[in-house]
Amino acid sequence: MIEKLKDLQIGEVLENIDLKEYNTCRVSCLAKALVKPKDIESLKRLLYFLKQEKIEYRILGNGSNILFVSPNFDGVLIKLDAFQKIEIEGTNVVAESGVPLIYLAQLCAQKGLSGLEFACGIPGLVGASVIMNVGAHNGEIASLVKTVKVLTNDLEVKELTKNALNFSYRNSFLKEHKEYVVLEVTLELQKKNPKDILNTMQEYNKTRKKHQPIELPSAGSVFKNPSNDSAGRIIESLGLKGKRIGGAEVSQKHANFIVNTGTATGKDIYDLILFIQKSVKEKYNIDLSLEQELIK
Ligand SMILES: Cc1cc2nc3c(=O)[nH]c(=O)nc-3n(C[C@H](O)[C@H](O)[C@H](O)COP(=O)(O)OP(=O)(O)OC[C@H]3O[C@@H](n4cnc5c(N)ncnc54)[C@H](O)[C@@H]3O)c2cc1C
Repeated sequence: MIEKLKDLQIGEVLENIDLKEYNTCRVSCLAKALVKPKDIESLKRLLYFLKQEKIEYRILGNGSNILFVSPNFDGVLIKLDAFQKIEIEGTNVVAESGVPLIYLAQLCAQKGLSGLEFACGIPGLVGASVIMNVGAHNGEIASLVKTVKVLTNDLEVKELTKNALNFSYRNSFLKEHKEYVVLEVTLELQKKNPKDILNTMQEYNKTRKKHQPIELPSAGSVFKNPSNDSAGRIIESLGLKGKRIGGAEVSQKHANFIVNTGTATGKDIYDLILFIQKSVKEKYNIDLSLEQELIK
């Protein structure tokens, strides 16, 4: 397979690669191949090949909302690192899917464009952030999105309007339709004094640092908040802060985070997730649903 991938001449092809540096939990997972297509045409050629050959594949963003449960991924991961273009015209911001959201938020702040302040501490790329409808500090990306350019299952480029994206809490049409690849996102921001925007972002980052274990590897919030409650509060009420399985630990700082204390495997983290879900179900009869995505 590797030779065939290389023959396509679509960009960098890494083989037998440990994905430890490609996920924010820093867990090891050996993938057969990781490919970085150099443009849309290369991406199309790659997807066509993978579909024809029935090879499992997955787009990988910054790996900040996924957990590699198994130590092996028997397929191809695709990184859209080459998709980095940003165009700003007035309050209209167009960003390709490989742009880090934190970078985009900073750039918009400097240009006096308000709206992305909430995103200043979210370590994902633009593509996945729109799929996940990321949010924080009472803001979410859905409120800014105008259109999203995708590659469909038939490898056609298509523009989806906000209505078609069907956003809800940490969810969207795209999350339910994994066959689409996000290429580009158009956002509408508002003019504001850059200093005020940067001050707000500084405050948000202070709050995050105080309440979240950002100094340790994790994939952010593990569970979605049940309606009118907080997953962190529920887990903490069971005395589970500090609960460990292998190298995985329920954060002492925030009970809805599982951190890698250094030696965690994906399975350690997964087992701890299952333990928390079981404990919460037994005590409160609540089914905590995952915000993170498991790759098994
Ligand atoms: C410390 C920390 C803090 C966080 N804080 C927040 C927060 O405040 N609010 C919040 O909402 N989230 C938060 N997150 C979660 C995470 O950052 C977001 O969900 C983010 O959007 C994930 O982006 P990613 O690029 O890392 O995606 P990944 O985890 O790499 O991928 C997520 C999913 O999207 C798919 N995907 C990725 N790119 C594409 C694409 N271009 N086309 C199609 N599918 C694609 C992947 O296959 C996967 O299914 C936090 C995470 C961490 C580690």
